[in-house]
Amino acid sequence: MQPSLDDLKRWDREIVWHAFTQMAEYEPLIIERAEGCTLFDVEGRQYLDAVSSLWCNVHGHRHPVLDQAVRRQLDQVAHVTSLGCSNPATIQLARRLVEVAPQGLTHVFFAGDGASAVEVALKMAFQYWRQCGQPRPEKRRYLAFDNAYHGDTLGSVSVGGVARFHQMFRPLLFDVLRLPAPDTYRLPPGVALEGAGDYYLGLVEQALREHHQELVAVVIEPLIQAAAGMVMHPPGFLRGVRELTRRYDVLLIADEVATGFGRTGTMFACQQEQVTPDFLCLGKGLTGGYLAMSATLTTDRVWEAFLGTFEQTRTFFHGHTYGGNPLAAAAGLATLDVFQQERTLERLPALAGRLAERLAELRKLPAVGDVRQRGLIAAVELVRDRATREPYDWRQRRGYHVCRHALQHGVWMRPLGDVLVIMPPLVITCEQLDRIALAVGEGIQRVTADWPD
Ligand SMILES: *Cc1c(COP(=O)(O)O)cnc(C)c1O
Repeated sequence: MQPSLDDLKRWDREIVWHAFTQMAEYEPLIIERAEGCTLFDVEGRQYLDAVSSLWCNVHGHRHPVLDQAVRRQLDQVAHVTSLGCSNPATIQLARRLVEVAPQGLTHVFFAGDGASAVEVALKMAFQYWRQCGQPRPEKRRYLAFDNAYHGDTLGSVSVGGVARFHQMFRPLLFDVLRLPAPDTYRLPPGVALEGAGDYYLGLVEQALREHHQELVAVVIEPLIQAAAGMVMHPPGFLRGVRELTRRYDVLLIADEVATGFGRTGTMFACQQEQVTPDFLCLGKGLTGGYLAMSATLTTDRVWEAFLGTFEQTRTFFHGHTYGGNPLAAAAGLATLDVFQQERTLERLPALAGRLAERLAELRKLPAVGDVRQRGLIAAVELVRDRATREPYDWRQRRGYHVCRHALQHGVWMRPLGDVLVIMPPLVITCEQLDRIALAVGEGIQRVTADWPD
């Protein structure tokens, strides 16, 4: 017997423990199906998917090429382990990733989610220094940035820096050398926007000069710190960090779980500054938003340090049961095929342009302190005082209430505090972007007009 709608809602409230959700206040939103950029709930209501189902959908839901690829793979085999074993779909995806990634990333380790991709990079980098040509066992710390987000396993939480998420777990975490986020909206006193890149790079240089001996790697979200509230780095910062890490012989881990697969306008954010990191972490869009899969790409230099006889125990002793899953790999291959077939990256500038026009209008609203955009990643930040950039009291949840308004008007989004995120699938239309911006604008007016301070 089919459960009734009320059953589903009750079970969803009482049994399912939702991620990053206060279950005492949770109101079920149950999506039954989706098509392109539109979600349909169990009561037949429609919503535009303005945040790509949490930043992972790329070519829209139910894309025929992806649907067919997964079905075909299902007719072959659903799962094959990657522990000493392989599958044609997984092999081909690895090869294709090496082709599209920044030059020099020639090996691929698969896992199941973004946090695991970062864990893999952290552990590989650590082990690398213990068994490379001239071992450096004193290297045991990482350098990471304030407000960084690299996932929710303890290693990735250790390098993460979002106090609201991570503070609780502090006693469980390893020690990390931390620098301020290279934020271009909230600059330190006395630093002008034009000088921000040099200022933040100066801090990196000083930290590397003092600590390079003990540093395994620098961990960075290239160009944009996504979960921090779409914090944009100054142009040239990533390039500068790459040059400094080379000079001081520290590895560079680039976490492109959010920025990868076309979001910022190029396939990967690193490519905008001609950077090849030592590790590239991918997730979210890797399967077009279809299936759980992540990948950590690395170089010949790292790979070779792990080669040897069995007795030399240079093996990377790490793995995830579903790493390299063939169904997910088939979705990943199809995602890359669609980038070519539909010339997705070539279509992005027009969409980004349209979004920029709409953002310029939102910027005029008095409560909007900043709008930020890179490709199809955009953020609208609400502030109490535009001049001082003072935030609203977080307990007022204005960002959340804007999204509640948008939901009632057929647009589904999820904010980062008072930062409203617009990050749609890359197949969004100009008309749909207009509708998203309209809902956001009305929502902002709603939460500022008659609201108490
Ligand atoms: C989402 C995200 C992660 C974590 O990915 P999961 O698949 O949720 O584990 C890691 N890094 C960045 C930059 C992310 O945005």
